[in-house]
Amino acid sequence: MSKVMLITGASRGIGAATARLAAAQGYALCLNYRERREAAEALLRQLEASGTEAIAVAADVADEEQVMRLFERLDQAFGRLDVLVNNAGLLEPQARLEQMDAARLQRVFGANVIGSFLCAREAVKRMSTRHGGQGGAIVNLSSMAARLGAPNEYIDYAAAKGAIDSLTIGLAKEVAAEGIRVNGVRPGLIHTDIHASGGEPGRIERLKSSVPLGRGGDPEEVARAILWLAGDEASYTTGTLLDVSGGR
Ligand code: NAP
Repeated sequence: MSKVMLITGASRGIGAATARLAAAQGYALCLNYRERREAAEALLRQLEASGTEAIAVAADVADEEQVMRLFERLDQAFGRLDVLVNNAGLLEPQARLEQMDAARLQRVFGANVIGSFLCAREAVKRMSTRHGGQGGAIVNLSSMAARLGAPNEYIDYAAAKGAIDSLTIGLAKEVAAEGIRVNGVRPGLIHTDIHASGGEPGRIERLKSSVPLGRGGDPEEVARAILWLAGDEASYTTGTLLDVSGGR
C-alpha cells in the first residue's frame, strides 16, 4: 500500500507544489485546505487523473474540533498516516507592533502555531510506536522570518515561526525513540500568493537584492526539501531546521 501523506494548506503555493511532487513519488494524499475549495478540488482532480489516491478535506487547523474531524476523515479513507506536512500558515497585512491587536495575534498564532501543534498531536497518536503505530515523519513549515524578525512587516508572524522552530526541536527529541522524525523547513522569499495576502504582491522584487542567489525561490524548490525530509533518504535526520532561502 502507498505511504500516506497529510499536507495542511494544500490548496495553493508550497502546499500544492508539495502535493504534486509527493504524488509523483507515489504517496497517497490527504489535501487539507481552509476555504479555497475550488482550488483544492481542482488539484485533487488533477492528481486523481494521474492515478494518485487522494482526498481533499476542508478544516481550519486553528480549530480543534475541525482538526479532529480532519483526522477522522483521514482514518476513514486510508487507515494509516506516514507523513504530516504542517504547511498551513498565514500572514496579516504588514504592520508595526503598535498596530497589532489581540484578535490579529490570535489569528496569526492560531493558524501558524496552534494549528501545527494540534495536527502534530494527532499525527503522533497515530504514528508513535508507543501508541501502536509504525512510526513516521513530520515536516513543519517555519520561515527565515523566525531568524530575521520581519521588522515593520510582521514580527507576530516571525515570532509564530520561532515557535515552530522550538516545536520542531522539542518534539523531535520527545518522539525520536518512538519511530518519528520531526524536521523543519525555513523558506526564504518564495513566489506564492502569501505576499499579496500581506499587502505587497511585489515584495520579492523589492527584497531580492538581499538574497545572495539574487532571486526569489519557486514553491517546487521548497517542496523538494520537504519531500527529502519526509522520506527514508533522511533516515538519520531529525530536529533539523533546513533553510531554503537562497542564502538569505
Ligand atoms: P499561501 O500561498 O498563502 O497558502 C497558504 C495555504 O495555507 C493555503 O492553502 C491556505 O488555505 C492554507 N491555510 C491558511 N490558514 C489555514 C488554516 N487556518 N487552516 C487550514 N489551512 C490554512 O502560502 P505559502 O506561501 O504557500 O506558504 C506555505 C507555508 O510556508 C506557510 O506556513 C508559510 O508561512 C510558509 N512560508 C512561506 C514563505 C513564502 O515566501 N511564500 C516563506 C517562508 C515560509 P486556503 O487557501 O483554503 O485558505
